[in-house]
Order: sequence, then structure tokens, then C-alpha cells
Amino acid sequence: MKQGIFYGMKENLMIQFVYPDYELPQEYKDVINTIDHGDIVSSLCEDDELRKNADVVICHDWNGIQFSSFDKDRIYTLRTSKEDLFDRYKLLKGIISSSLRLNVVITDIEKFTEEDFKKYKEVLEYLSDVLKTCYAEGKSPQLNLLTDRMMLDGMNNCNAGVENITLAPNGKFYVCPAFYLSKECDGNEKSLDEVCQKGYSIGSLKEGLDIKNPQLYKLDHAPLCRKCDAYQCKRCIWLNRKTTLEVNTPSHEQCVVAHLERNASRNLLTNIRKYGAFLADKEIKGIEYLDPFDVLQK
Ligand code: SF4
Repeated sequence: MKQGIFYGMKENLMIQFVYPDYELPQEYKDVINTIDHGDIVSSLCEDDELRKNADVVICHDWNGIQFSSFDKDRIYTLRTSKEDLFDRYKLLKGIISSSLRLNVVITDIEKFTEEDFKKYKEVLEYLSDVLKTCYAEGKSPQLNLLTDRMMLDGMNNCNAGVENITLAPNGKFYVCPAFYLSKECDGNEKSLDEVCQKGYSIGSLKEGLDIKNPQLYKLDHAPLCRKCDAYQCKRCIWLNRKTTLEVNTPSHEQCVVAHLERNASRNLLTNIRKYGAFLADKEIKGIEYLDPFDVLQK
């Protein structure tokens, strides 16, 4: 960890620590506190103090969403499967209206079907109504799925492999935590050790960073994405790699989900303007497609 911090200082990087659920020994905390950093902590973390002061709290648990109290100055991230989201999205009302920001991360976008796209549109319409009510009451909470696109003038993607890299506990670098943690490699389930040794490492603290074809991670080398205006899209490199075997080529599912969010953001912007001059300089134009690949084919 000390070497990782030193590397971050040398390269002038902002460091974010992703914590385990158990409390770290004081010795670790002392090392972490030698540098300015961000804390990403699970809602299940046993370290109360850390959880209360975290920059981002990750919720893996919908039951927690129902019964927890939320801090209006804190950012929460909910990781959920699409099925759970479709079953329980109405529970998000409480957290949206009582926190600074909620990020919803759907962990199995690649499994969306045409039927799921319709359901997702309904979910977004419901959440849009929740936000509209908040705005009408003078509050301005953020929900990544709907409010990010309203505020953006250009792409704001994850940028893994370009602006962000992950240093794993094994001392190796990865494009993002998914490349380190996933047990799937080319569609076949492998052990974590196997994937770590074989798979996706892009260097180590010892040998330095070594990203093969680094240009492929950049927006200007992503032919579909560079012309797209779903600016809030994560443009998930891991999902691209998993679904199309190309880090710079997205799947149909990722694009349609992002465009449903984009279009719902457009409707939300129109609706909240009934209550005031919100984001007067922003405009999201109407479009006829949900997957930019369809336009490219024409
Ligand atoms: S919606 Fe598709 S084309 Fe647009 S940025 Fe996202 S992944 Fe790229």
C-alpha cells in the first residue's frame, strides 16, 4: 500500500480507497491517512466511523435501502440486478429525496431483453416523477440515471484505462476493479487466481504501467461513442470487452439503456421547467433511435 501511495504521488494521481467490510487495523489507517484521498465504503462495513464519513457509500442490499436512514450530504451508490430494480424501484423514492446523490449501477445490463427495455422506461418515468416533485418543493437531489445528462455538455464516462486505473491487493494494475474481480474470462468461468495471473493485469508496481494499445480506451478511438450524445453513459469498457470482445465497441443493451436514460432526462428537463428556469442554457434534442448503431447502418 505504501508503494501504491508513493506511485500515486509521483504520477500526481487522486487516490480512492475501496474498503473491505471488516475494520482495518490502525496501522493500515495510518498509512492511508498519509495522503489526501477518497473513501468508498460498503453500507455493510463494520467500521461505523469510516462508514459515517465515507465519500461514497455502496449499498448492495435493497433491505438496507428500505430501513436505513440517509445523510443529506452524502453520496450513495446502489448496485442492483435488473430484476431487483424492476421489483423494488419504488423504494428509491426515500433515498432520492433524503441524500445528496444516488448512483444506481445495474450489474447485468448485458442481460436486458426487449421486454426489459419497456420495463426500464417505466422505471425511469416513475423516478422522473419523484425528482420532479423534489424540484417543485425546492430540493435538487441528483440521480445519475436522470439528472447527469441534463447538466452535461459533453461525454462524462467512466474513463477507465484513460483517467482511472485500479491497483489491486496483489500489487498489479487493472483497467478497473471488474477486470481484477471478475471470474469470467472469454465466457468461461475461471478461478480468481487464474484470471489474475493470466488475464487482465496491465502492469504492476514493480514493473510499471503497461497498457497495450492505450488509444483504444480513448473516446476518439470509439467510432460509435465519439458521435453519441448520451453523455451520461458509463461507456463501460468491461462490459464492451465482455459482450463484443472489443474494449471500444459497446453492446446493443448498453446503448439502448443509456438512450432510454437520455430521453427520460430530456422529458424531466421539460417537466421541471414548469416550476422555474432550470438549466436555461441546456437543451437535449429529440432523436428517433435508441441504438446509434442503427443510425450508422443507414
Ligand atoms: S450509448 Fe452507446 S454509443 Fe453512446 S456513449 Fe454509450 S456506449 Fe457509446
